[in-house]
Amino acid sequence: MVSSGDSSNPGSPDGFEQQRGSASAHMNPRRLRGLYIHIPFCKSKCEYCDFYSVTSVSGIPDFLEALAKEMTMYRDAFPCFDTVYFGGGTPSVLSSEQIKVILSEVRSNFDLAPNSEITLEGNPADLDPSFLESLREIGINRLNIGVQSFDQKILDFLGRRHSVGQGVSAIEDSRRAGFRNLGLDLIYGVPGHEKALWLETLNQAISLLPEHLSCYQLTVEPHTPLGKRCAHGEFLLPSENLQYEFFMKTSETLEDAGYVHYEVSNFARGMAFASRHNQKYWDHTPYLGLGPAAHSFLNNQRWWNHRSVDRYLSAIGRREKPVEGTEVLSLEQLQLEALYLGLRTKKGICVRDYSTKYSRDILAERGKSFVELQRRGFVVLENGFVHPTRAGLALSDSLALI
Ligand code: SF4
Repeated sequence: MVSSGDSSNPGSPDGFEQQRGSASAHMNPRRLRGLYIHIPFCKSKCEYCDFYSVTSVSGIPDFLEALAKEMTMYRDAFPCFDTVYFGGGTPSVLSSEQIKVILSEVRSNFDLAPNSEITLEGNPADLDPSFLESLREIGINRLNIGVQSFDQKILDFLGRRHSVGQGVSAIEDSRRAGFRNLGLDLIYGVPGHEKALWLETLNQAISLLPEHLSCYQLTVEPHTPLGKRCAHGEFLLPSENLQYEFFMKTSETLEDAGYVHYEVSNFARGMAFASRHNQKYWDHTPYLGLGPAAHSFLNNQRWWNHRSVDRYLSAIGRREKPVEGTEVLSLEQLQLEALYLGLRTKKGICVRDYSTKYSRDILAERGKSFVELQRRGFVVLENGFVHPTRAGLALSDSLALI
């Protein structure tokens, strides 16, 4: 791994720029690139949060100016996108006017394919009816709402700044505003959260008919407030067996309700509603990440921006790309990632595509392991694919190592 923001580094993104071409020359839907925009502001910090964000929103105007400048630095390397994802942080702390300005900067620097998926993550507390209507008008066509739970005690434990009632209203108001592609984020495995309580949250989510659900298991990082409370013995984390039970029951409940479990944490009401943007991360499609702490991938190279608004603004002020580190992936690393990422998706690994891409026969290399995994019920080998089963998805992070 090369880790450097030094522009003389041969692994720097500058060495990988390509000519800007017409949109039509880049219309292969499998290879159209994704644009991620990290909005690094939150009104308050959640107890478990490990994402990069600051709670002082006074820096928003300077950030927006810098973001527009950062776009100009990548217009040649990334000619066309068909997904835009506003993540964070909390993108909904911005006004609809500010989001509109960002989108217009995107359109003036890059080509956006027709029918691009444009997603915005929102906190229920920010999503009032007039804001939602404005978001629709400016072209946001997919909303991902950070509901996290329909149990107030859990929201309080997690330090979320919205209530259960605001979560429900945000979903209903989004429908009234015309959103037809709605995703909810939920968290399970919270200490003291019995399986029955989690199933109540899950069933309430199902009753609201979202097109997409992301169900994440709570991870407690040591440096977060929750991590420190855990270290002081305030609560115990669920055992591995219990976590496995939560995962299996979540998958079973949502599949019974008609959702496709298409990735470890993601469920869609049919693949038409699977996140087009996130799928790019899983199949090595190039993506550009703008804003502090955002990651990008292009031509076997990954780089990431400064995890600090101040350092990000300073770099842009010096007319430099705000890149903190870069890694160039070897063929072996790409192969291992393809295996690891493929086994996290329901689609799995296409044996022929893998051979074409890496000139390696994955069955010759790993056939014995796959047969053993199939015998143990973790994968199915059929029609030229290696698919993980539900039990395989539960253990997917370790399957590639077996
Ligand atoms: S809203 Fe999201 S990014 Fe902001 S503090 Fe909470 S978990 Fe972190």
